[in-house]
Amino acid sequence: MHRPTHVQISLGQIAGNYRAIERHVGGVQLMPILKANAYGHGLEAVAARLEREGARCFGVAYVEEGIALRKAGVSCSILVLGGIIGRQIPLFLEHDLILTASSVDKLRAIEEAATAFGRKARVHLKIDTGMERIGIHWYSAGALLEESLRCPHVAIEGIYSHLACSDGEDPGPTALQLERFQEVLRFYERRSLPTPTRHLANSGAILQAPETWLDLVRPGILIYGVHPSAEVPRLSGVAPAMRWCSHVVYFKVVQAGHPVSYGWTWQSDVATRVITVPVGYGDGYFRAMSGKAEVIVRGQKKSVVGRICMDQLMVNLEAGEAYNGDEVVLLGEQGEARITAEDLAGWAGTIPYEILTNVHARVPRVYSDE
Ligand SMILES: *Cc1c(COP(=O)(O)O)cnc(C)c1O
Repeated sequence: MHRPTHVQISLGQIAGNYRAIERHVGGVQLMPILKANAYGHGLEAVAARLEREGARCFGVAYVEEGIALRKAGVSCSILVLGGIIGRQIPLFLEHDLILTASSVDKLRAIEEAATAFGRKARVHLKIDTGMERIGIHWYSAGALLEESLRCPHVAIEGIYSHLACSDGEDPGPTALQLERFQEVLRFYERRSLPTPTRHLANSGAILQAPETWLDLVRPGILIYGVHPSAEVPRLSGVAPAMRWCSHVVYFKVVQAGHPVSYGWTWQSDVATRVITVPVGYGDGYFRAMSGKAEVIVRGQKKSVVGRICMDQLMVNLEAGEAYNGDEVVLLGEQGEARITAEDLAGWAGTIPYEILTNVHARVPRVYSDE
């Protein structure tokens, strides 16, 4: 028996999204991004399903996420996208995880650790073409590529960069970043060396910048069926995989002029039916949505009223009906009605990414293969 509040994850839909992206990019390889608990969908379950679908590599942010995948029995390549601290390097070697080398010093530290460990390190070089996050600047990248030729205990399997504006309307910044990246890649041509696997495209670029696809693409949010922004074109066959629901735990009639919840910020001018639902900001349902959010009860959208509490919230049914135990949908569909991650993001003043990754670990994930 799990809590009356849970998220339902459709692994079948995640697999369908993977296939839709695969069709869209033709022969280009996919590296699904599974950071932050697979954008809230559950790291291990999503990885297992995608491996079954034919995925040969995954991207995560932190080494701990890579280790968790190995412990779950995932055998394909795993690239850790984040920056590394020297003492973490042996963990990568022990668990056969691919390191991101983002500076000459870091690459040297990897070479040293790999020599001591007696195993070749697998590495992707990270070039900063305009994100100013991690990576060697495109204008000094030559030094890192040179150094990589002097590291016998390092296998350079890939080289990549990250796009800052691929989900926006203006193609200019992406074109500029691609041009900077191509300039760095000419190093291999000039020396007649084989180029490692080149990758650049996140979900935004997969949707609207085919010239950035190169050898491999890194879809994150699109794997989970959500588009990165309202500006990008929709990809058919892609649909959300997460549904978040709860159940009515309390029903009452609130008298006219009797305020509801902390701070007494809301009241009705007429007597009204109000239900209480056992979910709150402690579950990741943002308190900032107080006074704006809607949920679906009996196929109809109803307003969340008063402040959202840590573990509970109240919904105004007006003249509508509901019984204890009825399902309440926070995200997803019920009957004809639908609430999207974009809706929640709009109410919370954030982006759909943060809605998905914010669903707290205390909310059980229930998986289906549909
Ligand atoms: C998170 C991330 C991605 C995926 O981004 P989406 O916008 O979710 O597709 C790709 N590459 C890197 C380096 C990332 O950090």
